[in-house]
Amino acid sequence: MARESDMLRGVAVGAGSAILALGVGEFLGVALADASLVASVGDVAVDLAPGWLVRRTIGILGVAQKPVLLTGIVCVAVVLGGWVGSRGTSGRIALGLAGLLGALAVLRSGAGYYLSGTHPDDMDDRSVDDLAFEIVSDVREGIDGTGVRAGVIGEIGCTYPWLPNEKKSLRAAVAAQVETGAPLMVHPGRDPMSPVEIAEIVDSEGGDLSRTTICHIDRTCTDRSWLADMAATGCYLEYDLFGNESSWYPPNPAVDMPSDAERMDVILWHFEHGLEGQVLLSHDIATKHRLHAYGGLGYDHLVTNVVPRLRRRGLSEADVRTLIVDNPARIFAFTTGQ
Ligand SMILES: [Zn+2]
Repeated sequence: MARESDMLRGVAVGAGSAILALGVGEFLGVALADASLVASVGDVAVDLAPGWLVRRTIGILGVAQKPVLLTGIVCVAVVLGGWVGSRGTSGRIALGLAGLLGALAVLRSGAGYYLSGTHPDDMDDRSVDDLAFEIVSDVREGIDGTGVRAGVIGEIGCTYPWLPNEKKSLRAAVAAQVETGAPLMVHPGRDPMSPVEIAEIVDSEGGDLSRTTICHIDRTCTDRSWLADMAATGCYLEYDLFGNESSWYPPNPAVDMPSDAERMDVILWHFEHGLEGQVLLSHDIATKHRLHAYGGLGYDHLVTNVVPRLRRRGLSEADVRTLIVDNPARIFAFTTGQ
């Protein structure tokens, strides 16, 4: 009898603790990262769930799908809390892991500033040193005081022609790269001259081009002599619009967006010229229609569809490993810094 009431008390205390932890998590998430803990966990759950499951729940629940999902997450957390109360140490470890996953869901972030339209109001008054200090702090101490450290500097946003605050932001990012040894990723303007100018600034500011990635190469320029010149600077060239199978590119109608087949032609060109060690592949998924649940090819498109096609076009297992394991592992590792 006494054991039973102890267990019931444990369940009640555990469930109550979970409710309290969710409340504190929501408050901290919104206050520190401008993101809801529960909603972030929900987003990750949708990203990870199989497309058929997400489509089926949308079909059954319609617009109620999201509230039901969020309520479900809260219920799971409370039930898990109750289970913890009844299970002692093993339960606490499980809840700790669940909390850690929740924290990762909220805080998947890089450091530095994107395009000028997203800059804070006081950007005109910020100095390069001030911005660099902030980025270094994001990498070394944690983003906005959260203790969660950025693993990459970027994407640093640049338009073309270049805007002064964006150039200032890149100079600060380079200073932070030199100090921390973190990798730097730059979103170039939609003109072949933009990556050229970016590479010149990284170099002239003492940055490391072999630790720098130029994103969105596929919508910027795929002229082979231009690519050879860019590769000669030492930077990584990221083809990150795989799965975007439309030649119509609304942000710049002057560009004919390549297809995946044409992207693979460029990747093979890199191998033919010994430049495969500077190639990165990605999806740049930023809209719902690219997800499985909304009819898109999803986050697994590269490994599910593109890699087998690259093998059929002649790449060996070692070549594939270069593209999807070795190159990312090299660029995303930190060097010592200063
Ligand atoms: Zn970008």
